[in-house]
Amino acid sequence: MDNPAILAFLQEAFRLYYNRASIDVPDLFKREFGFGFNHKIDYRHQAFGNANALNAFFREEAPLYASVSTAHYAFPAARPMEKKGFQGSDLVFDIDKPSSDFEHGHNPIFCTECFEHVKKDALRLKGILQVEFGLEGFSANYSGNKGFHFHLRDENLRALTQDSRRQLTEFLQGPETVFSGDEKNLLGPGKKSGGWHRRFYAYACTLIENSSLEELKHAGLRGKNAEMIFEKKALVLALMREGKWRFATPLFWKKLYDKFRAENSVVVDAQVTLDLARLIRIPNSLHGDTGFIAKTIGLEQLASFKLEDALAFGREKTIKISAQTDIEIGFPERLSLKKGEQATATQAAGIMLLCKNKALLA
Ligand SMILES: [Zn+2]
Repeated sequence: MDNPAILAFLQEAFRLYYNRASIDVPDLFKREFGFGFNHKIDYRHQAFGNANALNAFFREEAPLYASVSTAHYAFPAARPMEKKGFQGSDLVFDIDKPSSDFEHGHNPIFCTECFEHVKKDALRLKGILQVEFGLEGFSANYSGNKGFHFHLRDENLRALTQDSRRQLTEFLQGPETVFSGDEKNLLGPGKKSGGWHRRFYAYACTLIENSSLEELKHAGLRGKNAEMIFEKKALVLALMREGKWRFATPLFWKKLYDKFRAENSVVVDAQVTLDLARLIRIPNSLHGDTGFIAKTIGLEQLASFKLEDALAFGREKTIKISAQTDIEIGFPERLSLKKGEQATATQAAGIMLLCKNKALLA
């Protein structure tokens, strides 16, 4: 934020939040902290002995951005980085944009539809972490802006190399194909497959097993081929168990797999997962681009999480703003302003627009 008057106003508001909030991070004393007022990180290499010291800092300084290392260090404030004594880094996943393009009237200021899409991706990621990776006891966070963070703080995961982390992000996206061979001898997943191969095998078996002739045709199988498969389901399923998929064309399987992959993959920001020295938004701190809380969400609450839950500033109090540009938003309140127009906005919406440099104080 480079407008001093707005920065001071926002800090005053943020301070009120930090006066009533209690910020904590597991193993806080082993982590490096970074803070920003004009930029996301103006300075880093900060360390705190305990949560009291951290909260005192928040109340004193009221930073617009606050982030913490995913890494543990023996000396988190030491610099340069090599002197910190790296002790491993939490496994972190960051989803901040929809995994696929979808038709909608995108809102360039704050898009609730993109958010809902990203939330679905986050739920899918949660499922993969639990079911495919067998992980429990991790936590989810709204990022405070467009997406979600997952923090996996298990000691064993902290030792994962960058290469293993890369493999995990690649797994989330799924392999390009699960087939090999050609039309005459098309080989694919079978009963003994694992991971994506197993999941696609189960998906395709269910399709064959439960579909009517019409449904098989609707899925993309052509006339005689669909009839043969429908009449000889038991034989076809037996072939699939052995990994033999030549009874339909490679093109049909490719299309079916691509659809399956699009519906089941999760695209994370790989840089965040791979960077062992990453600073990431502090859970329950405010995000300086929105004024929203980067709220920690219990895994069971993720499905019912609403943006509303992340509002630090309410709708009872109002502030006067003037639009820096044409403004059209649906959240935190519906507002439609022409450039230069003045308006009374709820605190929630007004602060978001100030944070985003879309409005000035009037
Ligand atoms: Zn959008």
